[in-house]
Amino acid sequence: MKIAQIIVDNKCKETDRVYSYLIPQGLKIKVGHRVIVPFGRGNKKIAGYVVGLKSNTDLEMSKLKAIAGLPSDDIFLSADMLKLIKWMREKYLCYYIEAIHGALPANIRIKNTYIYELNQNSKNIDLLKEGNPQTLMDILDFMEENGGRAIKEELRDNFNDNLLENAVKKLIKLGVLKKHQKVKSQENIMYEKFVYPDTETAEIPANAKKQRLLMDTVSSKPGISIKALQKDYAIGKATIDNLLSKGFIRIEEKETYRLVQERIQAESKKILTKEQCRALGEIEECFKKGSHILLHGVTGSGKTEIYLQLIEAELKKGKQGIVLVPEISLTPQMIRRFVSRFGDTVAVLHSGLSNGEKYDEWRRIAEGKAKVAIGARSAIFAPFEKLGIIIIDEEHENTYKSENRPKYDAREVAMKRCDIEGAHLLLGSATPSIESYFKATNKLNNMALVSINTRVNNKVMPNIKIVDMREELKSGNKSIFSHSLAEEIKIALGQKDQIILFLNRRGYSTFVSCRSCGFVAKCPNCNISLTYHAKGNYLTCHYCGYSRPNPKECPSCKSSYIKYFGIGTQRVEREFQNTFDNVDVLRMDADTTTRKNSHKLILDKFRNKEASVLIGTQMIGKGHDFSDVTLVGIITSDTYLNLPDFRAGEKTFQMVTQSAGRAGRGDKPGTVIIQTYSPEHYSLLYAKNHDYVGFYKDEIKMRKEMNYPPFSHLGHIVISGIGEDAVVKAAKEAGKLLNKLRGDDCNIEIWGPSPAPLSRINNRHRWQLVLKAVKEEEVLKIFRDFNNSAFLNLEEVSVSMDINPLNML
Ligand code: ADP
Ligand code: ZN
Ligand code: ZN
Repeated sequence: MKIAQIIVDNKCKETDRVYSYLIPQGLKIKVGHRVIVPFGRGNKKIAGYVVGLKSNTDLEMSKLKAIAGLPSDDIFLSADMLKLIKWMREKYLCYYIEAIHGALPANIRIKNTYIYELNQNSKNIDLLKEGNPQTLMDILDFMEENGGRAIKEELRDNFNDNLLENAVKKLIKLGVLKKHQKVKSQENIMYEKFVYPDTETAEIPANAKKQRLLMDTVSSKPGISIKALQKDYAIGKATIDNLLSKGFIRIEEKETYRLVQERIQAESKKILTKEQCRALGEIEECFKKGSHILLHGVTGSGKTEIYLQLIEAELKKGKQGIVLVPEISLTPQMIRRFVSRFGDTVAVLHSGLSNGEKYDEWRRIAEGKAKVAIGARSAIFAPFEKLGIIIIDEEHENTYKSENRPKYDAREVAMKRCDIEGAHLLLGSATPSIESYFKATNKLNNMALVSINTRVNNKVMPNIKIVDMREELKSGNKSIFSHSLAEEIKIALGQKDQIILFLNRRGYSTFVSCRSCGFVAKCPNCNISLTYHAKGNYLTCHYCGYSRPNPKECPSCKSSYIKYFGIGTQRVEREFQNTFDNVDVLRMDADTTTRKNSHKLILDKFRNKEASVLIGTQMIGKGHDFSDVTLVGIITSDTYLNLPDFRAGEKTFQMVTQSAGRAGRGDKPGTVIIQTYSPEHYSLLYAKNHDYVGFYKDEIKMRKEMNYPPFSHLGHIVISGIGEDAVVKAAKEAGKLLNKLRGDDCNIEIWGPSPAPLSRINNRHRWQLVLKAVKEEEVLKIFRDFNNSAFLNLEEVSVSMDINPLNML
C-alpha cells in the first residue's frame, strides 16, 4: 500500500474530510495508527489518524505530501472504533476529528509548540534598542536571560497575550527571532527500574551485610523493583550502585502505570436472592436471543450484585466489560465494590485523574491488562478488543449526554458499539427514562424489559409523606421546615440517626408561583412552566415564544403571595442551625465542592458519622448507601415540578424516588418528607406509592397528547453572542432559514426563536429555536442542511446544535 487516507487534527469545517498522503518507504503504517503529517501551505506538522490504505489514487501522485513519521506513542484506534467514530460524525453532526478526540483520553493529543531562537548576529538588535515599544525590548531581554531560546508557552507565561503576538511577529520579520515548530506527544510513559542477578558467583565480603541481603533477595526474587528493595528491605541506593559497578546485578527499565487500584479487602460473591436469580436468568435468556436489556429494579433491589455477576461471566469467557456510572465522584461505593471483587483488573476512568493517570488507565485497557472499565460517560470508548458487555447504571441520568461537541448520548453510542462488536447491553435504573421504558415495553431497538419489584430480603420501602406547604402558610408557619419535617427531624436526632435534607439545583428557580394556592403560570400551547425574566418583568415560554406580563396577584385566588421562588442550601443550613441546637451539619453543593476530592471528603465524613445532617443539592440524592440515614427531607420539590421542560414530571418522579431510596437502607425503616405547593401532582403521588409503572402510564399519555418524545424527535439550536442585537438578528435569520429548509413539510414544527431560559451565560446572550418531527431522520436532514449553509460562518454569534437534547436551558 502506498497511500494512507488520513483525518487531520485540525478542527474546522473545511478540513473535515479524508486526505491522501504517501507512505514513505520503510514506514509500516496500519489503519488506526496515529501519524504526523505536514499540513497546509506552511507544511505545519500536525497529528493525523489513518482511516484507510490504498494502492493508488485518482489524485496526481506527485502532488501528494508524504507522512512525516510516527509519534513515539501507542495510540491506536481499532477498526470497530473507527466505525463508531464515523457513525458519531453523521449522527451528531460533528467533525471526524471531534469524534476521534471524544473517543481518546483528552491529554494524549499531539502537542504543537514553537521554539523561538534569538539570532545573535542580527544587526537589527541594536537598531531595535531605539524608539521601540517596551514589550519588544522586554522580550529580547527575556530571550537573552534564557540563553537565546524560549518555547511559546514560556513567553506566554511572561507576557501579555495580545502584545506578545504582534511583538513576536515584528521580531521575526526583522530577522531577530527565528521560529521552529516542535511536535511532541504529550503523554509520558513512566518507567520503573527492576533488578536482576547478573552473575553465578558473587564474592561479597563477610561483613557487608547489606550487600549480602541485596544479593540474596535479588537471587530469590529476580526482577524485584528498586522501590520494593528500598521500602521492604531498607536497601539503599549506595548498596545497589556498589553491586552494579561490580557487575553482580543488572537493572532493567520497564513501563509502569501510575494508578494501580488500592487493594482492598476482597468482597465475596453474594448468594443471589430468589428475585435476583430470576432476573439474572431472564437477562441471560434475552442476551442469548441477542436482545439488549432494560433492568428496572427498585432502589435496594440488588442491581449492583447482578452487574458484578454479569461481568464475572464475561471475564470467564475471556471477554471484557464496561460499567458506566453517572458521576464518578458521587459513586465511590460502586467503585469500591468493583475493585474489591475484581482487584487490579479494574480500570477507573474519571475526570479527577491526572493526565498521566488517565493515559495509564487507557493503556492498561488497550494492552489487555485491565479487563473491566468503570467510569463516567467517556468510558464508553474504553479500547477493549473483546468487549462482552456494557452496563449503564442509573441510565436515566442526564450526565450520559455530552453537552460539548460531539454532543453524543452514551446510551446510543453504547447500543451502536454493542451492535458493531457483538456485545451485550444492559441499562439499569430504579427510575428508567420514559424513552428507555417505552422502547423496552414496545420491543423497539431490540430492547427487552426485566423488572425487580422488591428490595433485597424484602426490606420495606421507605414511607413517603407529602406535605402541603400552602397549609403551613395558612397556619402561620413561614419557616422552610414544615411542622411534619421539624417533628421527624427531632425524632431522628433523638434516636441518633442520620438525616439528609435536600433541595433543587442551586441558583435555578425562574418560575413564579402562588404560596397561597400553588398556582404556577404555564404556557397554553406547550404545557410547560413559563420562565420569569426580571428584565422587563414578564413571563415567557421558551419553547414557543408565548409571553405575558408578570401577574401582580394570583390569577387563581387573588392572593398577593405570588412570587419568584428560590431557596439556597446556605439558607437551609442557617435556618437549621437556628432551629436545632448543637447539631453537626455538612453542606454539599457547588460552593463546598470546588476542590478535586471534596465530594469524597464530605461523603466520608458523613459516613463516619462526623455529622448527623447532610444538606445539599440534588447531587446527594443519588446512589449512596448510608445505612444510618432514616430521614430524607425534600425541602423544595416544586423547583423540579416547574422546570421549564416537558420532562419536569419525569425529573420530579426520579428525584423523589432516588432520594427516597437513600432512606432506610440499613436495618431501620426510612421516612421521606416531600414539601410542595402542588401536593396533588401525579408525579409526587406515584412516587409516594413507589409506583413507577403507574407514573409511566400517565406520563406517556401526556407525551402522546403533546407529541413530545418518544413520539417525536427534537433538534435544539442555540445562538449566542456578546451583542444582544446581533444574537436576536441571527436568531430571526435562522428561523427564516429553517422555514425555508423545511419547505411545506407540515410534519415538522419549528418553535421560536425565543430567549433561552438561561438567557445570559458568561455575558453571552442566548436565543434558541427548536425543531420537532416524528422521525429523527427528518430533524437530522434539516440540521445537516442548516449545518452546511453559510449561516454558520457568522462572526458575531456562535451557533450550537443538539439532536434530542435532554436539557433545553
Ligand atoms: P441497588 O443497586 O439495586 O440499589 P444494591 O446492589 O446497592 O441495590 O443492593 C442493596 C443492598 O443489598 C446492598 O447493601 C447490598 O450489599 C445488599 N445485597 C445485594 N444483593 C444481596 C444478596 N444476594 N444477599 C445479601 N445482600 C445483598
Ligand atoms: Zn393563588
Ligand atoms: Zn409554549
